[in-house]
Amino acid sequence: MIKKQIAIIGGGPAGLMAAETLSLSGHHIAIYDSMPTVARKFLLAGKSGLNITHSEDYRLFAGRFGAASARLCAALDDFTPDDVRAWAEGLGTETFVGSSGRVFPKIMKASPLLRAWLARLEARGIGIMTRHRWCGFEDGSLVFETPRGRELVRHDAVVLALGGASYARLGSDAAWVSLLRDKGIDIAAFQPANCGFDVTWSAPFSERFAGEPLKAVTATSEAGTFPGEFVVSKTGIEGSLVYAHAASLRDRLMRKGEASLIVDLAPGRSEERLARDLARQDPKASLSSRLRKGAGIEGVKAGLLRELVDPAALSHPERLARAIKALPIPLLRPRPIAEAISSAGGIRWDELDEGYMLKKLPGMFVAGEMIDWEAPTGGYLLTACFATGRAAAKGMAAWLANQ
Ligand SMILES: Cc1cc2nc3c(=O)[nH]c(=O)nc-3n(C[C@H](O)[C@H](O)[C@H](O)COP(=O)(O)OP(=O)(O)OC[C@H]3O[C@@H](n4cnc5c(N)ncnc54)[C@H](O)[C@@H]3O)c2cc1C
Repeated sequence: MIKKQIAIIGGGPAGLMAAETLSLSGHHIAIYDSMPTVARKFLLAGKSGLNITHSEDYRLFAGRFGAASARLCAALDDFTPDDVRAWAEGLGTETFVGSSGRVFPKIMKASPLLRAWLARLEARGIGIMTRHRWCGFEDGSLVFETPRGRELVRHDAVVLALGGASYARLGSDAAWVSLLRDKGIDIAAFQPANCGFDVTWSAPFSERFAGEPLKAVTATSEAGTFPGEFVVSKTGIEGSLVYAHAASLRDRLMRKGEASLIVDLAPGRSEERLARDLARQDPKASLSSRLRKGAGIEGVKAGLLRELVDPAALSHPERLARAIKALPIPLLRPRPIAEAISSAGGIRWDELDEGYMLKKLPGMFVAGEMIDWEAPTGGYLLTACFATGRAAAKGMAAWLANQ
C-alpha cells in the first residue's frame, strides 16, 4: 500500500473521531488546530456535566435532527448511542443513564475521556499540530498560519472538522466559510441554536429574579409541549427547556417578527381547579398570599405573573387561572451566536456525496457541526459529531482505495 498524507483540520470531537477511525489505515495522519490545545468546546461541555449521548428509543433518537435526519441516518446507524457508550467505556469512561434518559460519564467530566483519547491517538502515531490555523489553498497545498509564519502542507486527502459558529472563543470561529465559498461551496448562514432569548424585563423584575430557575413547568411553542425547567436571566430566558424550543422560536421570529414561549406554571392542576381554588381566597388578601394558598405559586413564578399579566386579570380568579396555565413570554430575539450552545447552518448537504466528500473538492471531506444540521441538547450534538467524523473517515478510506 502506498502511504498517503492525510490532514485532519480541526481537533474537536468530529476531527478526533475521524483521526481515530483512520488511525489503523497505515496512512500518515496529522491533526491541525488553530488553538493552543484541541477540543476546547468538548472540555467546556464537560464543565456542565458532559451529556455524551441519549438512551431513548433509537428511532426517536435518529429523528431528532429535523430536516437533516434522513442524511445523517447512515452515519448514526454506524455509530449509535450504544456504540458511543461502548467507545467511551473502551477509553476507561463508564457511563450512566440519567433520569431524563440522557447519558453521562459517571465522573460527569470530559477531561479524563479526552486524555485517554489523545493518548490512544498518540500511541497510534498521529501527530497533533496546535497553533496551526488553516487559511486556504496555494498550489494544491494547504496553507497554515503558525507561530513560525505561513507553512504549506502537501496532502493527499483532508478532513475538515472546523466546527460551527457558536462560542467562537473556543476556536470554532467559522472563518473557514469564506475559504469554501470562494471555491463555490454553498453554505447556509449560521444562526444560534440551543440558545437563550431576550425579553424586555422591567428593571425591578430582572434585578430581583435574574438567575432564578422556574422548575417543574411545561412550555409550548410550534415545536410542541415539553416539561422541564428554565432560568430567568438578566436579559431574558435560557436553559434546557428554552433550548428545546429554540429552533422553532428562532424560525418564527425570523418568519413573523414575533414569537412567545407559552408557559404552564402549574402543570399538575387544571385551569378549572385553579380558578376554583383562587376564587376561594379572600379577595382582600395580597396577590402573593392568594397565589401561594390558591395555586401553590410563589417566588419567581409569582414574579413572572406580576411582570407579564394585565393587572386587572390578577384579581380575577378565572383570568388568573388562565394566565397560570398558558402564560405567553414574548421574545425579542435569540441571544447572540457567541453564547449559543450550538449553531444551525453550515455546508449544505447537496455539496456532499454519500461519503461526506465535497463534490466540488475531491479528496476533501467534512464532518461535525460545520455541516448544515442542528439538534436539541441531550447528547445528540456530540453523537452526530462522532458519527459524521467516522463517516467522513470511512468515506475517505474508500475514496483513497479507489485512487
Ligand atoms: C457550553 C457548551 C456545552 C455543550 N454541552 C454539550 C453536551 O453536553 N452534549 C452535547 O452533545 N453537545 C454539547 N455541546 C456541543 C458540542 O460541544 C459541539 O457540538 C461539538 O463540540 C462540535 O464538535 P466539532 O468537532 O464539530 O467542532 P468543535 O468542537 O467546535 O471543534 C472545531 C475545532 O476546529 C478548530 N478550528 C476552527 N477553525 C480552524 C482553522 N481555520 N484552522 C485550524 N483549526 C480550526 C477549532 O479550534 C476547534 O478545535 C456543548 C457546547 C457548548 C458550547
